[in-house]
Amino acid sequence: MRTARSKRLMKRARAVIPGGVNSPVRAFGSVGGTARFISQASGARIEDADGNRYIDYVSSWGPIIVGHAHPLVVEAVRSAAARGTTFGAPTEAEVELAERVIECVPSLEMVRMVSSGTEAVMSALRLARAVTGRDHILKFEGCYHGHSGELLAAAGSGVATLGIPGTAGVPSSTVAHTIVLPFNDLPALESAFVEHADEIAALIVEPAAANMGLVLPEPGFLPGLRELCDTYGTLLIFDEVITGFRVGRGGAQEYYGVTPDLTTFGKVIGGGMPVGAYGGRRELMSRMAPSGDVFQAGTLSGNPVAMAAGLATLDLLAEPGVYARLSATSASLAEGLQKLAVEAGVAFTTLSLGGIVGLFFHAGPVRNFADAEAADSRRYAAFFQAMLEQGIYLAPSAFEVAFVTTAHGSSEVDETLEAARRAFRKVS
Ligand code: PMP
Repeated sequence: MRTARSKRLMKRARAVIPGGVNSPVRAFGSVGGTARFISQASGARIEDADGNRYIDYVSSWGPIIVGHAHPLVVEAVRSAAARGTTFGAPTEAEVELAERVIECVPSLEMVRMVSSGTEAVMSALRLARAVTGRDHILKFEGCYHGHSGELLAAAGSGVATLGIPGTAGVPSSTVAHTIVLPFNDLPALESAFVEHADEIAALIVEPAAANMGLVLPEPGFLPGLRELCDTYGTLLIFDEVITGFRVGRGGAQEYYGVTPDLTTFGKVIGGGMPVGAYGGRRELMSRMAPSGDVFQAGTLSGNPVAMAAGLATLDLLAEPGVYARLSATSASLAEGLQKLAVEAGVAFTTLSLGGIVGLFFHAGPVRNFADAEAADSRRYAAFFQAMLEQGIYLAPSAFEVAFVTTAHGSSEVDETLEAARRAFRKVS
């Protein structure tokens, strides 16, 4: 496989961009080899600067759900951009996207658009602290909620890949209010609540954790969170930046039937443009400025081009049967991979939820971050390289998931499994 152009571009990039990338995991640091510079994409396939084509399972880390460059999304973007890219004044598209999101997600009465998932989470936590008058927040090990300092304590995703507990540049006073506990462990959570009874403003959780591979909540875990939060007057925040509109139209909260107080979104709702959002009940959201006393703002918040991409994407996701098909594609990929791993005698666990597939080189079960960390990341790296060589672009990190889109069909799954058969043999 030719990589000369990607190599040359990376050399240029390293001279002017730290590590050559604008987000760490893109550098292929934990899997080695040449990071591919992508030049174009269509549907389930991407093409790199050397002209190699791949079936894409990164999907921009989740935003791409109807396939790359879907004609209706491209047309919506083109038409919005032609009318002006940003005004810093309200537009009708913002109202439409807010109405649409509220209509789909049961716990929302009001929503505010921002420009990234990180911002959505920061804003939701500020609101929770204002509402409760408390400072502490509670999060789970291996859950990632963006790059704000107080949430990088024991985060998943890129932080897990780098193997650093938090990051340099964050004062200890910043994480002093963050309590970190293992996922799927209600007794540990109950003890923390007892110890900090009147101090915890919010408990934030990825309802299905997708930044340490895919780790699903055990039965009773999410209802247990709801109950403890109610008992102790703590707001429950579901971070649905990944699961929102990917697990189903109503997100993980609808799927699991547990209602959070606040929800954060990103990725899919922006249709591939920079968008985040947070929302909840009217009485809570009304505390945000200018209707209330909690400040939060953004030059490009509710950007008209981004709103257009989000609306076009949600339109496509409203077609009947979309999520059933998406889930079936993910499940057939997961089942196929599991079968091939067994045949090759490789310890491997895979599972899927909506348009998310988790892969662990680990006999399982994987219930929390400690289990996820015990997976064989060297073997993942070898598998990743063997797949890449055959034109299958998986996430360049063992702590990530595979993102399936509605453009992935049985021919993509078959091609992927054919490559995986050889890749498993190679790493066995
Ligand atoms: N929350 C979750 C669950 C995420 O997966 C991410 C990003 N992967 C974020 C928050 C942060 O979003 P962004 O990268 O858009 O800031």
